[in-house]
Order: sequence, then structure tokens, then C-alpha cells
Amino acid sequence: MRIVLLGPPGAGKGTQAKRLAYELELPHISTGDLLRQNVSDGTDLGKLAKSFMERGELVPDTLVTRMLEARIALGDVKNGFILDGYPRNLAQARDLDNILRSLSMEINIVFYLDTSTSVIIQRLTGRLVCKTCGANFHIKNMPPKNTLLCDNCGGKLYQRSDDNEDTIKTRLAVYQKEAASLMDYYKGKNKLVNLSADGNADAVLNKMLEYCSQGLSPKGTDPATR
Ligand code: AMP
Repeated sequence: MRIVLLGPPGAGKGTQAKRLAYELELPHISTGDLLRQNVSDGTDLGKLAKSFMERGELVPDTLVTRMLEARIALGDVKNGFILDGYPRNLAQARDLDNILRSLSMEINIVFYLDTSTSVIIQRLTGRLVCKTCGANFHIKNMPPKNTLLCDNCGGKLYQRSDDNEDTIKTRLAVYQKEAASLMDYYKGKNKLVNLSADGNADAVLNKMLEYCSQGLSPKGTDPATR
């Protein structure tokens, strides 16, 4: 099963993608994580991407799409994947379809995690990420036992440099500019499931798992309204 998670920054895509990946035994592919890895490894891609990321702007499509294509070419995606952070615009959605078509694959289901702006700001400004395993914590909502260390692996926790209020505002504006056309695209393909992600993370996960086990509704029925 090939699943895409859409939603504004702070919707919980990363957290939910990791949990879905665990439950469904599928790899979690996050373009943000892949880009951050390139930045910290000092690769050519990382050097090009860094300033865009620091400003909260999108890294040019060609760079990100090439990176994703290389990731999807790895053998571990043969049973599917959970894609988080891609596509970010219509051009990327079309590129993704083309990449998958060339591999005789397609996206099966797209979850849109709907989240209010106040919740987003609160979540992102308090977010802590593990440098080693990528686990997410929150200073108030999901505090680690030790503020500086990851509960799962003992790795160092850090605050992402783009999780500050100014950059968050740019990221939200960038997101909102592209979101409607992206959602229309998947709605038109009868693949979009709209879920409110303001509340309890377990409830959101369970809802997603339910949809995954049922597959999508028949053509013509909008799963977002079920
Ligand atoms: P994320 O971890 O998904 O919040 O992404 C962090 C940053 O990486 C974004 O603000 C962008 O600068 C960049 N990025 C991640 N995914 C993409 C993408 N699909 N297209 C362009 N830029 C991206």
C-alpha cells in the first residue's frame, strides 16, 4: 500500500507517518528528513537546499524530485511506503504519479491531516526531535523523561532551526498557497481522506488504519464525507 500524508507543517505528519509505518510494516519516506540528512552530511544537494530550508521556502522541485526518485528506487518500497512531506505542490504530485507509473505503481490513499493555525504554532514551537532516531517529542504535550535525551534511543534532542515563529509563518503561507490545488488533484482521483488532526493522535492513527484496512470507497463516493 502506498500512502501519502498531506497537511500543514505541525499537523503531525511525521509522528503519524512513523506510527503508520510501524503498524503496516512499510518504510517511512520523509523528504524533510532526507533533505536534513543531506544538509548535515554536507552533500551538494544539502548545500543547495540549506538556505531554502532555513527560510521556510520550498527547495526547488527538480532537486527534491530527483532525491525522491532515488529513494523510491530502493528495494524496500516493493510492498509500499508512507510518504510524508511530498508532494508539496501540483507539479510534484504529477511527478510522483509519473515516477510511480514507470514502476507500474500508484498511490492508493492520501490522508489530509486538517489542523488549526493555533494548534500548529503551539506544536511546532515546542517540538523536540531526536538527532539519532528522528523521534518527535513536545516540551508540554509529549515531554521526554529527560529534556535533553530521547526516551527511545537516548539520542540528543534538538529544536529544528526552522521551528521558530517567523519561519513557521513562511512555511504556513507556502503551504496554503499550494494546498487547495493539491487536494483538488487527489479528490478528483477519489483518493483523498480528510481527517481532523487537532485532537488525540491515537484516534487519528486508528482512523487511518481503519481506512487502510478497508481500502478506498468505490469510485464516486467521497471518502472525506464518510
Ligand atoms: P518538513 O520536514 O516536511 O517540514 O520539511 C522541512 C523543509 O524541507 C521544508 O520547509 C522545505 O524547505 C523542505 N522540503 C521538504 N519537503 C519538500 C518538498 N517536497 N519540496 C520542496 N521542499 C521540501
